[in-house]
Amino acid sequence: MTRHDPPLSEADPEIARLIRDEERRETDKLRLIPSENYVSRAVLEATGSVLTNKYSEGYAGKRYYEGQQLIDQVEELAISRLKQLFGAEHVNVQPYSGSPANLAVYLAFCQPGDPILGLGLPAGGHLTHGWNVSITGKYFRSAAYGVRESDQRIDFDQVRSLAREHRPKLIWCGGTAYPRAWDFARFREIADEVGAKLVADIAHIAGLVAGGAHPSPFGIADVVTSTTHKTLRGPRGGVVMCRAELARDLDRAVFPGLQGGPHNHTTAGIAVAAGEALRPDFSEYAARIVASARALGEALLSRGFRLVTGGTDNHLLLLDLTPKGIPGKPAARALDAAGIVGNYNSIPFDPRKPFDPSGLRIGTPALASRGMGPAEMVHVARWIDEVLAAPEDTRVRERVAGEVRELCAGFPPPGILT
Ligand SMILES: *Cc1c(COP(=O)(O)O)cnc(C)c1O
Repeated sequence: MTRHDPPLSEADPEIARLIRDEERRETDKLRLIPSENYVSRAVLEATGSVLTNKYSEGYAGKRYYEGQQLIDQVEELAISRLKQLFGAEHVNVQPYSGSPANLAVYLAFCQPGDPILGLGLPAGGHLTHGWNVSITGKYFRSAAYGVRESDQRIDFDQVRSLAREHRPKLIWCGGTAYPRAWDFARFREIADEVGAKLVADIAHIAGLVAGGAHPSPFGIADVVTSTTHKTLRGPRGGVVMCRAELARDLDRAVFPGLQGGPHNHTTAGIAVAAGEALRPDFSEYAARIVASARALGEALLSRGFRLVTGGTDNHLLLLDLTPKGIPGKPAARALDAAGIVGNYNSIPFDPRKPFDPSGLRIGTPALASRGMGPAEMVHVARWIDEVLAAPEDTRVRERVAGEVRELCAGFPPPGILT
């Protein structure tokens, strides 16, 4: 008997077509959303493998199901590569994504109602650092620090005074729209002063840390959490890393505290991505992300754009579009129509509402992954300027979209075989 097991294109032409169209979209457009990237063909293959078939609740050597001969090896490879990459003492690769990784930290070290401190969402923090619509803001007593109005940088005086006042169990550092380097040592001093654990969430910058393009929190923070799919360029997933003495509590928080079986196909993809990040060319990629962001920022400044903090140290730029007379949302729409994909974003002290804010957030990781660098950013800045000068003009959009496609054709992205 021959089993009928057709390829996706036959089995489900509807989904197959949507995937093909997404491949085209990702090939033809300049993807500037700073949390996005292109994984390699190798990462895609591992992620789309039979490892998705296997249940393996528990940890290597201590599982609740039989048949773990190969899964244990996959998970241990992912762990040992990440340890080597970051210099971490302990690594847990099972969190399903960045948010569950952060929840595991709360579950490991806090009781409901405990005080915690994180960067506020409007200043570029993440929901899971205690913002009120998140479970982390509902089940814990969260306080939020922000940035200074004068220079939009972290206000360490405020961090210290809030820490003294609230005595948080956890202090979070890390964010989603903060274009400057994190001074982990200053957070450490404050955490020590009030007896808090310091948690560095490096979701956005993990690839920069791994590639030596951003200072590392390892050896400073008690716990480091991350996603694996942003600058680190792995599959969608999360990790929690810590000093050895916290390992037991964190592992128990991930499983059985929060999750059931780990996503082994994702673990394999993380192992492959970590292997890629250990190669010397990954440092070159990380350095090129930062050099490109800086070049893009300078080109935009020279065209009269305003950048939050005046520039960038990392992979992202937060544009305050107020001087250009257009809010973030219509700007992001017009740019997308011209083949330039970013996202509208609040800026610190934004006078506008979160659903219709003043800012645009853009970044260079995906462009760097397709081989672009500072030289290409001059064109990107010009196109952004041209489109936003006439956001309703479909002829401008179409011309720019064509020029974007032409540039993109010279930089085929990883993972897409068109
Ligand atoms: C993206 C991000 C997360 C959450 O990751 P998800 O995988 O989307 O749950 C957490 N923290 C920070 C700082 C992030 O940027």
